[in-house]
Amino acid sequence: MDIPRQEQSLPVGRHRDLAAWWHARRASHTGVALGEVGDLYHHHYGLGTYDPSVLDGPPETRDDRIVDELHRLETAQAMALLDRLGDVTPEDRLLDAGSGRGGTSFLAHERFACRVDGVSVSDHQVDFSNNQARERGCRGKVCFHYRNMLDTGFPDGFYRAVWTNETTMYVDLPALFREFARLLPLGGRYVCVTGCANDALGRRSAAVSRIDRHYICGVHPRSDYFQALAASGLAPIEVVDLTDRAVPYWELRAQSPVRTGIEEAFLTAYGEGSFQYLLIAADRV
Ligand code: SAM
Repeated sequence: MDIPRQEQSLPVGRHRDLAAWWHARRASHTGVALGEVGDLYHHHYGLGTYDPSVLDGPPETRDDRIVDELHRLETAQAMALLDRLGDVTPEDRLLDAGSGRGGTSFLAHERFACRVDGVSVSDHQVDFSNNQARERGCRGKVCFHYRNMLDTGFPDGFYRAVWTNETTMYVDLPALFREFARLLPLGGRYVCVTGCANDALGRRSAAVSRIDRHYICGVHPRSDYFQALAASGLAPIEVVDLTDRAVPYWELRAQSPVRTGIEEAFLTAYGEGSFQYLLIAADRV
C-alpha cells in the first residue's frame, strides 16, 4: 500500500529515553552483536525493582552499569505489555502505534514470530527502525511506516492486536480508539501502557502539569481512557495499576547520567497519587 508521507503535525516529545546514550555507546562498542536484547532502543520507562549494587563499585563503570539497569527495566516494561496480547500466532499481524525506535516491535516479533508494523510521525525514527530491522534480519516481517496512528490507512480488521506504549498522551483518545476499533476484528486485542492523571483527586496537579510542559504532551485523565474505549466498542478485560512498580525506575534514573530534572516531577506525582501508570487490555466487542 502506497500512502503519501504525512506532514508531522504533532509534537513527539523531547528526548525522554536512553536511546542517545545507547547510540553513542554502540558506536564505541563495535563488537556488540546486533539482535541482542541490549541493542533494543526504547522510548518508554521501566518497571520493577533495580539492583542497588549498580550504584556501587568502580566509578569509571558506574554510569554504564546504571544505564544498563535502566534499560533492563524498560525491556521488562515492554515484556509486561506483550504478556497481555493474548494468543498470537506466526500468521497474525500486530500494530505498534507510535513505535519510537522499534524496541517493543522487535521484542514482539521475537516472541510471536509474526509480522509487526510500527507507525510513527517521526521520519527519523521510522528510518532508524527500518535500518535496525534490516540489521536484525527481519525487514520482511517487521516494518515501520511514517503514518499518523489516528488515520493509518491500513485496511479494516487488519490486525490481531494493536498496542500503544506511552504514546496516547500525544493524541485525542476518542479519535485514536475509533481508528483501533476499525483496525481490529471482533475479539481483537488492544493493549495500552500509559501514565494518566488521577482525576479521582480532582484538579490536575502541578507535577502532572510540569510533565506535560516538559514533554509537550497532554496527559489524559484516567476516566477519559475508559469513556473513549467504551465509546469505540473496546471492552477492558484487564486493568493493572503499575504505579508502585514504576517508581524504582525513576529513583534510579534520578541518580543516573541520563537524568534530565523531570525525575522529581514523576516521583512527586506518583508519591502524592496524582499520576498513575496503568496497563489496560481491551477486546474489540
Ligand atoms: N512506543 C515507543 C516505545 O515504547 O519505545 C515510543 C514511545 S515515544 C514516547 C512516543 C511515540 O509516539 C513517538 O514515536 C512518536 O513519533 C509517536 N507518535 C506521537 N503521535 C503520533 C501519531 N499521531 N501517530 C503516530 N505516532 C505518533
